[in-house]
Amino acid sequence: MRVAGIVQDSIVDGPGLRFTVFAQGCPHRCEGCHNPQTHDPGGGEERDTRDMIAEMLRNPLTDGLTLSGGEPFAQAGECAEIAQAAKNAGLDVWTYTGYAFEELRVLAERDTGAAELLRLTDVLVDGRFILARRSLELRWRGSGNQRLIDVPKTLERKEVYELVCDGEPCHARQGAGV
Ligand code: SF4
Repeated sequence: MRVAGIVQDSIVDGPGLRFTVFAQGCPHRCEGCHNPQTHDPGGGEERDTRDMIAEMLRNPLTDGLTLSGGEPFAQAGECAEIAQAAKNAGLDVWTYTGYAFEELRVLAERDTGAAELLRLTDVLVDGRFILARRSLELRWRGSGNQRLIDVPKTLERKEVYELVCDGEPCHARQGAGV
């Protein structure tokens, strides 16, 4: 898998202590993107998913895995492999994506890796970064259009369940049907 980087002990990519993998390559080209070096799918470095999984499992204090980017769904099969290992170890999985959840549902119909990654994700931070809607007040996300989606609940109930985390505590908000 091509990766832009790994952070072993992140406290800014979701709750608790997280192992974060930044996938290399992103097709979205959002204006004002903070990580333009991650756009080129040929950039970054090649890493063996098994090595990354071993690194992730080395620290017993890790609470979760975060897949970020770049665009994790551009290498969905590899990300799903890491996500499955995280779930097997009792870690939760957050995935940041430039795709809207509704776009991923369509992608998942023809891409088994995307379907797997969606199935294994607990919280999806979705949508492109929109510079005009950027806010430093938002927790875990960069612009107001992006949502924190409780994926298991959303898939089960066929309605988008958003987590609202901009104040404490996080709570669920029921949204549109999917
Ligand atoms: S989806 Fe993320 S990494 Fe990709 S261009 Fe947009 S902000 Fe940058």
